[in-house]
Amino acid sequence: MTSPTNDTALMPYDDVLAAFDPALGLEVHVELNTASKMFCGCPATFGGEPNAGTCPTCLGLPGAMPVVNGKAVESAIRIGLALNCEIAEWCRFARKNYFYPDMPKNFQTSQYDEPIAFDGWMDVDVDGETFRVEIERAHMEEDTGKSLHVGGATGRIHGADHSLVDYNRAGIPLIEIVTRPILGAGEKAPEVAKAYVSQLRELIVALGVSEARMDQGNLRADVNLSLSPKGSGTLGTRTETKNVNSFRSVERAVRYEMQRHAAVLSGGGSILQETRHWHEDTGITTSGREKSDAEDYRYFPEPDLVPVAPSREWVEELRGTLPENPTARRARLQEEWGFSDLDMRDTIGAGALGLVEETIAAGATPQAARKWWLGELARRSNEDGVDLVDLPITPADVARVQALVDEKTVNDKLARQVIEGVLAGEGSPDEVVASRGLAVVSDDGALGAAVDKAIAENPDVAEKIRDGKHAAAGALIGAVMKEMRGQADAARVRELVLEKLA
Ligand SMILES: [Zn+2]
Repeated sequence: MTSPTNDTALMPYDDVLAAFDPALGLEVHVELNTASKMFCGCPATFGGEPNAGTCPTCLGLPGAMPVVNGKAVESAIRIGLALNCEIAEWCRFARKNYFYPDMPKNFQTSQYDEPIAFDGWMDVDVDGETFRVEIERAHMEEDTGKSLHVGGATGRIHGADHSLVDYNRAGIPLIEIVTRPILGAGEKAPEVAKAYVSQLRELIVALGVSEARMDQGNLRADVNLSLSPKGSGTLGTRTETKNVNSFRSVERAVRYEMQRHAAVLSGGGSILQETRHWHEDTGITTSGREKSDAEDYRYFPEPDLVPVAPSREWVEELRGTLPENPTARRARLQEEWGFSDLDMRDTIGAGALGLVEETIAAGATPQAARKWWLGELARRSNEDGVDLVDLPITPADVARVQALVDEKTVNDKLARQVIEGVLAGEGSPDEVVASRGLAVVSDDGALGAAVDKAIAENPDVAEKIRDGKHAAAGALIGAVMKEMRGQADAARVRELVLEKLA
């Protein structure tokens, strides 16, 4: 089945806004960090020897009986409460029936008309404005296994000569958080979508219920978008772009779909209700499978599991464990850090609030933390096309780099090289300084002692230099650099060697 429309026709963004109102919808899957899986005792770890972390229950073998993971229910309730949801007094799991090789049971145990959490909201900050995103539901389900297609060029099934299935991920607990249609975002729709996912991630991290790494698939976003004629107040036909795996891609996918929908609609065509694949490299979406609202998964209540009926006492006890609410937290941090509204807006917009907070906790000043994350590191994240949180550098590393600057071990220029080394996987900031010889030690006392030692240990080399063979100085400089772990100013060492042996 092919779409009659040309996928590549795009309308200029300003023209889209003049003619249409966008409606967004986001479905975010959060993989919980429980020790065991949703319905069995297998380890809920990512990766490892394929199919080592499986048992009859998560392989869907006949007669195996599932048991609900209490810790996953607790995490689901805490997520629901943090999203200002109602918590069901009684709810059930349901079987969602479909066939796919990475799903061993041929149904996914999920929740259907009885989610554990519903009717909530989250306030999202975008450029200093607050958008209230309404949460329809947050429900519990299990992850699928993973297929690996071998032999094709792109890792996709097309062109592959065989496929392998790894069920280690099958049964890992997931929470799916579904918004109501987000209306009224207008030109900021792409930014609102990005900010929602980014701020939701921050909340999940604060709750401590998931690693929440988008690049690792712990947090996956499906982005729904539709357009309606401007001012009509109706909802158009939506498409669902699946598994968008970074904040910046969420923003790009929304913008792309807005421009694509607008081109189709203004050309007299209609939008096909379907899933779309997001292509990170080319920044486009392509047609997936057709999807109707009443897609028949033949949901029915799971007969092998008892209903979940959390007591009100337990729910209130869990409410007491919630982290500070995000709006209050942002206000407190701005006050503590002495940031202007603009500083704060930029920090939140870059998805750097938590990173800056952790960098300050590791010893940097607020201004220094902000400078690195929004300066050099933001530049690198743009260049590499990855989110700040996914850069291979920790807040502690960034605080250490600033400490090296403050100690005058490196200057600002060398500090950027230290960061480059950390990002390249060369080790901690101190290791990079040592291995690259970046430190500026120009203190003659420390250098002089090392030079004297090198001369004493290499009398024959020293003699040559005294005889005017200055080329031999390299051996002594090398000895000093080794003694100083590479953190010496080589030019100054050379001067000292020649002065002492003149
Ligand atoms: Zn298992």
